[in-house]
Amino acid sequence: MKLDHIGIAVKSIAEARGFYEQGLGLKSEPEIEEVAGEKVLVLKLVLPPGSHIELLEPTSPDSAIGKFIEKRGPGMHHLCYAVDDIDAATKRMIQEGFEPLWPEPHDGAGGCRVNFFHPKQSHGVLTELSQRPN
Ligand code: ZN
Repeated sequence: MKLDHIGIAVKSIAEARGFYEQGLGLKSEPEIEEVAGEKVLVLKLVLPPGSHIELLEPTSPDSAIGKFIEKRGPGMHHLCYAVDDIDAATKRMIQEGFEPLWPEPHDGAGGCRVNFFHPKQSHGVLTELSQRPN
């Protein structure tokens, strides 16, 4: 398992991206992607080798990211680990006594299949597992 990405909740990708691009010098992917199911816009910033930062901007105040910002302000939202097989990885976690957010994986950014584990179980860090498309 390796770190896939770090999700950061922001009010505005347009306002936040300068810190990462001009400041830290990270390269962003050309397109901002909308993940309609999560009501969020995603900008990926490449973090070699093989990881990235995701800036997450809510498209609705009732989205998970919108509520997070409302409650806690912008900031680090989750860590994501890459897995080869999301179904097998989730099943293994369930067998170990950890409950995923959803019974079945959802579609995430970039065609990935993802599921989450609540911060209550992971000592304060919302944790995502992600399987990249083949
Ligand atoms: Zn994520």
